[in-house]
Amino acid sequence: MKKNLMNFTLILTILFFNISVALAETVIYNVQSGIYHNYSCASANRCTKNCIKIDKKEAIKRGGRACKNCGG
Ligand SMILES: [Zn+2]
Repeated sequence: MKKNLMNFTLILTILFFNISVALAETVIYNVQSGIYHNYSCASANRCTKNCIKIDKKEAIKRGGRACKNCGG
């Protein structure tokens, strides 16, 4: 019984970890260059007109590439 509880706790931990990772995957995507950045990237902060905040998966789906400076 105690072992089952341990497994349940482990599953919950993994679930919450996945959710937080999924939330952290929003990137700044430059629709013109097709490059996506993370929030702290200087290039992303300079880019206002052509940049949108989208999911990293969506950026990749649109043919986006990770920025060389920040890694996306
Ligand atoms: Zn960048």
